Amino acid sequence: MECSPASLRTVPSALTVKPRLVRHLLPPVIAMILVVLGCGYAGFWISERAGIRALAESGERQLELNARAVESEINKYTYLPSLLELESGVGRLLLEPDAQRRQRVNAYLEGLNQRAGSLAIYVLDTGGRVLATSNWREAGSYLGEDLSFRAYFQDAVHGRPGRFYGIGSTSGEPGYYLAHGLRVHGRVIGVAVVKVRLDALEERWQRARLEAYVSDENGIIILSSDPARRLKAIRPLDDDTRERLARSLQYYWWALDELRPLGRAALSNGVEQISFPGKGEPGQPPVPVNYLAQSRPLGDTPWHLTLLTPLQDERREAVSHGTLVAVAVALLAFLLIAWNERRKVLATRLAAREALQQANSELERKIAERTADLSASNARLTAEIHERRQAEDTLRRAQDDLVQAGKLAVIGQMSTSIAHELNQPLAALRTLSGNTIRFLQRGALDTAATNLDTINELVDRMGRITASLRAFARRSDDHGEACLGKAVDAALMLLHPRLQRTPVTLVQTWQEARLAIDQTRLEQILVNLIANALDAMATQDARRLVLEGSAEGDRYRLRIRDNGPGIAPADRQRLFEPFFTTKPGEQGLGLGLTLSASLATAAGGSLSVEHPEDGGTVFELVLAQVPAAAPRPQEETPCP
Ligand code: ADP
Repeated sequence: MECSPASLRTVPSALTVKPRLVRHLLPPVIAMILVVLGCGYAGFWISERAGIRALAESGERQLELNARAVESEINKYTYLPSLLELESGVGRLLLEPDAQRRQRVNAYLEGLNQRAGSLAIYVLDTGGRVLATSNWREAGSYLGEDLSFRAYFQDAVHGRPGRFYGIGSTSGEPGYYLAHGLRVHGRVIGVAVVKVRLDALEERWQRARLEAYVSDENGIIILSSDPARRLKAIRPLDDDTRERLARSLQYYWWALDELRPLGRAALSNGVEQISFPGKGEPGQPPVPVNYLAQSRPLGDTPWHLTLLTPLQDERREAVSHGTLVAVAVALLAFLLIAWNERRKVLATRLAAREALQQANSELERKIAERTADLSASNARLTAEIHERRQAEDTLRRAQDDLVQAGKLAVIGQMSTSIAHELNQPLAALRTLSGNTIRFLQRGALDTAATNLDTINELVDRMGRITASLRAFARRSDDHGEACLGKAVDAALMLLHPRLQRTPVTLVQTWQEARLAIDQTRLEQILVNLIANALDAMATQDARRLVLEGSAEGDRYRLRIRDNGPGIAPADRQRLFEPFFTTKPGEQGLGLGLTLSASLATAAGGSLSVEHPEDGGTVFELVLAQVPAAAPRPQEETPCP
């Protein structure tokens, strides 16, 4: 199957992270494993050295004890050949041998051998021929045999103690030969030989499960707890030595193979580590067994005793110690890593906490700074609000004053008309009252009563005029309610004289509404707007004034439209400027629109102007409506 580069690119990112993690973790893990293995090996090595040292010390003692035992076993018979010197029959046989004497000595030697528990005791003449022997009855008797070639004979005949381990040339039985030169008057007349067996030592070692062997001066193992090692050479034999030993028949015809250890290492003087092939399972290759070999020379002989102490237990103990050390080091390393990780986590947490605290204190500092700024701004704003309020109060007072001034101006403007309006009924009153007196004197009571009714109507009309003027001139506040109908009536009433002078077609399409403005102020606005419309239409023939109104949501829109000449484009921008007027002389003050707009604004409404294309001017007054459920002040009468 082919693997395209595209498919390789689609490997999930989570999987690509793993090799990086492994690369990151591998070196420390390998280092830790190496340290653990190193420490384990060091533990094993130290434990093994210490074990071997302890084993060597105890082995030294054991070697000493066993060496003594071997020495005492060998020396047990040292005196025996020399005893024969004391036996006169032996001396006589050596000096003058005959059959009778031989037989007597044979019997003696037989008895002695039995009592001593030795293998054989025999006597040789100076030529090395056996004259008498304890085994004279046996088929393999030494009698008449020439043993002059034996080294022990050579030594003894020359006056030296003969010591020899060998295998009997007749019997083929191994034994230890002790020879002594028998002397008469200082002259060696023969040699007495005792052959003893040392197998008892081997049996004792085997019973005690001791591994040991004794090697002779030729390096041949003559005694061994393990029969397989017996008569093996512990060191290589050169050809001459091999030739010499073969000729001496010391070891009979044994091959004298070399005991080849699998390994050998010298530890100290007389101590070495040797490994021999073990027994192993049948059919399996032998398992090497390690021994601690300690050697010591045996007294009065050229022999050496070697003690073999198996090292398996030590090795096993060292392995378990090494394993324990490795486990302990691994545990310690794990604990160290865990501690280090925890330390890192704690340090990170501490750093995070410190950073958080720092951020907190920084935040607190900033908050304190901001709070101080805000407090200062707040104080500034409070002062500003206070100032604004003061300014507003001042403005409101000024507005009130202006309104008042405007009202007074309107009143002043209308004073001629008012005077005219009042003089006419007054003149009529004078005439009517004079006529009434005369009608009363004549007794024409009905006519007098009719005149009096007319007088009453005139007085009422005069009262209404003055009431309107008084209400217009009165100061009022910005909050209140007004009935639109009442306001329109009051305005038309006030302007009634002018409407009479210059007749106007009045079209009214408004609905009754309660508006959120003081009644007097609404009347004042309407008087201004209607008066301006009348002024504009004064020179026209067909004058038409339309009052139309409609409610839109919570607002009410009242439009006052005239069909006058309109406002020149140049003047439109300045309409609401105070004291802007186009009216000649004393007729215009230029306050009407300014005051009306400010009264509407003060009541939360607005006053604007439109210039229809078909001519004339429209002023639109927008005011808030009072909700139907709103409580009505007690003194106010409801709208009709
Ligand atoms: P005044 O009436 O004392 O002049 P106003 O503020 O009431 O002051 O009016 C300012 C000017 O606006 C008037 O002089 C007039 O030129 C113009 N004006 C007001 N209303 C109308 C109108 N309906 N048609 C034409 N011009 C008007």
